[in-house]
Amino acid sequence: MGNPEAGTSRIHNPIDFGKTGRQAGHLQLPPDPTTGSAGERVPIVCIANGSGPTVLVSAGNHGDEYAGQLAALRLIRDIEPAQVSGRIIVVPIISTEASRANTRLWPSGANFNRSFPGNPDGPVIEQLAHFFSAVLFPEADVVIDMHSSGRDGWIEPCSHMCVPKDPVQRKAMLEAMEMWNSDFHFFYTSAGNYLPNEAERQGKIVVTTEFGGGTRIPVAVQALAWNGLVNVLRHVGVLEGEVVTRASLGLPPPIFVDCRYDNGSVGEAVSGLMDFIKAPVAGLLEVLVETGTPVAEGQPIGRIWSHLDPTRQPVDITSPFEGYLMGMKTLPVVEQGQSLALIGRQVDRSDVLAKG
Ligand SMILES: [Zn+2]
Repeated sequence: MGNPEAGTSRIHNPIDFGKTGRQAGHLQLPPDPTTGSAGERVPIVCIANGSGPTVLVSAGNHGDEYAGQLAALRLIRDIEPAQVSGRIIVVPIISTEASRANTRLWPSGANFNRSFPGNPDGPVIEQLAHFFSAVLFPEADVVIDMHSSGRDGWIEPCSHMCVPKDPVQRKAMLEAMEMWNSDFHFFYTSAGNYLPNEAERQGKIVVTTEFGGGTRIPVAVQALAWNGLVNVLRHVGVLEGEVVTRASLGLPPPIFVDCRYDNGSVGEAVSGLMDFIKAPVAGLLEVLVETGTPVAEGQPIGRIWSHLDPTRQPVDITSPFEGYLMGMKTLPVVEQGQSLALIGRQVDRSDVLAKG
């Protein structure tokens, strides 16, 4: 299968990827008849100097995930062309309207991270996905797309990766992922229509992240977002400066966990592509375990109290297997069937490299 064709895009791109120095502008999207939007402007910056790899840095794939957007904006401000060998292309806030509205999804209700590889003749969101697939990914060697959990949840701050089949690509991705120097890294899979799926299909080194979530960004989490981003850019050789490792920082090795869908492993509780535990009933969620801590099989990690009947016993949410609690809903109001918790099984780095 070839790459999507760039010439078919209707999105106006002000950046000349052949030029050195700093360029800043906006991708001009066409009007969206489904929402009445006059046509969004998506900021894009290219910082190029000399020879070296091209890295695409993006955030705001989901609008309400802000730590990555802030790190990308700071990158644009702080990096001078003289510090760069190659090119850094930054799209700091992909879903600009959703970011302003504090929503995960676009005003049309569509999810940018389920819109790949995109369609130049489809809805505007698919046109933008197609622009990434047909114009931005082919320019890049490395693709970094930064996420958090969104406004209602928390995922342990970390870098992660959607595991590709190719062992050479997998190793390069794992080594880049580790350069974020987070306490955890997790492996996931996806349905094939995510941004990393298409970038990986085109052979890129792809690193994705989770930086907590909710409506408060702890200073330490924003620092992890920034320091990790800078360190990965140094690791791939596009940015000047010394690479640091967890060992050089005096930190213990990271913990690798597998959050991939394991068919049937958690029975009724699982739905979707990560092992998210779903709420069996509606009510008020009391969290019993902090993310990033080990959990035993059968251990209660939360309980759901009834809104209506204070005499009713709460419903316990238990871990279906031994692992680490990687993510948890933080907004206590839950609806039946909502994703509540993400558990990862600890895995060996060498096993992931050997088996995928
Ligand atoms: Zn996201």
